[in-house]
Amino acid sequence: MPATTSLNIVPFVSVDAMMKLINALGAERFLTELAGYIEEDFRRWESFHKTARVAAHSPDGVIELMPASHDTLYAFKYVNGHPKNTRTGRQTVTAFGLLADVATGYPILLSEMTILTAMRTAATSAVAAKYLAPAGARTMALIGNGAQSEFQALAFRALLGIERLRLHDIDPAATRKCAGNLARLGFEVTPCASVEAAVQGAQVITTATADKQCATILSDNLVGAGTHINAIGGDCPGKTELHRDILLRSSIFVEYPPQTRIEGEIQQLPPDHPVQELWRAVAGEVPGRRSAGEITLFDSVGFAIEDFSALRYVRDQVVRTPIAEQLDMLADPDDPRDLFGMILRAA
Ligand code: NAD
Repeated sequence: MPATTSLNIVPFVSVDAMMKLINALGAERFLTELAGYIEEDFRRWESFHKTARVAAHSPDGVIELMPASHDTLYAFKYVNGHPKNTRTGRQTVTAFGLLADVATGYPILLSEMTILTAMRTAATSAVAAKYLAPAGARTMALIGNGAQSEFQALAFRALLGIERLRLHDIDPAATRKCAGNLARLGFEVTPCASVEAAVQGAQVITTATADKQCATILSDNLVGAGTHINAIGGDCPGKTELHRDILLRSSIFVEYPPQTRIEGEIQQLPPDHPVQELWRAVAGEVPGRRSAGEITLFDSVGFAIEDFSALRYVRDQVVRTPIAEQLDMLADPDDPRDLFGMILRAA
C-alpha cells in the first residue's frame, strides 16, 4: 500500500531522518528487526529475480548498481567503494536506494543508504554468524576499525551476545575512535597492536579493512580450529583480505555465487571450489556449522536482496512514523497523456 495518496509524492528518508529513526528505535532493535527481514527474504530466495551487481571499476574504486525484485516489490541501490576517499574527508562507501511497486512501476521510497548499508551489512553478518559461529561465542576480533566496525559489533551483540571486542587497525586513530564509541555502548574493549594479538581468545574474527589490493590481513597460522570468520572487506575483483590457505581449510558460505566468485575471497580459488549458499542454511536446506572444530567462513560481498530487505524494513517504519520528507518526484498531469500540457499550464 502506498503511504501517500498523491501519485506524484515519494517518501524520502534523508541521512538526518535515518539517524532519527535509528535513535528512536535503538540501533540494536533496528539491527535485530532488519535481520528478521533479511532472513524472511533469504527463505524465499528462489522467488527473487537476481543478478550480479553491475560494476564500473576505476583505478581508485568502483561504482555499482544493485537491483533485486520479486512479484510485488523492486529495489535498487547505487553504491561506491573508494578506499582512498577517507584521505579527503569522504566515506569509503556511500549509497542511496529506491523501492518501487512492481504493479505500477512507481517508486514508493527513496532513501539514503550509506548508514543503511552499514546496518544491512552488519545484520547480514550476524545472520550468517547465527548459523555458523561456535555456540556460546562471546569474543570477537574486529580487524579494520573504520566506518563499518561499530555496526558489526552492535549486530553481533544483538543477535549473538558478543560482549568482548579485540580491536586492531593499521591506523591507531581508527582504533581509538572505535574503542571510544564501543566503550560508550557498554562493550568490553581491548585495543590490540597487531592482528596476532587481536585474534587471541576470539571465537569470531571479523575483517573489515579497505584497500584495493589482494592483501593478507589474516594469515593461515592465526586461525584456530572452531573459529568463525566474517570477512566483509574483500568485495571487489583484486581486493581480498584472507590468505588462500585459510579458504582451503574452511567451510565457505556465500551470498550469490555468480557475484562472489568474481568479487569475494573465493576469487583466489578455482571456479568449481565447493561453497554453500547462505540462504540455504537460513532456510534449513543445508546445515550451518557441523562440528565444534570446523572453521566456517562467511565470504561477504553484499548482495542486492539484503538492500531490498533493508529498504522494505525502512519502508515499513516510514509508514508508521512521520520521519520521511515528501518528494515531488513524479510528473502527475490531470490527463496522463497530456504531459506537455502540464508544462504549458505551469508557464
Ligand atoms: P573505512 O575506510 O571506513 O575503514 C577501513 C579501515 O581499514 C580503515 O580504518 C583502515 O585504516 C583499515 N585498514 C586498511 N588496511 C588495513 C590493514 N592491512 N590492517 C588493518 N586495518 C586496515 O571503510 P569501511 O566503510 O569501514 O569499509 C570496510 C570494508 O568493508 C571496505 O573494503 C568496504 O568496501 C567493505 N564493505 C563491504 C560490505 C559488504 O557487504 N561485504 C559492505 C560495506 C563495506
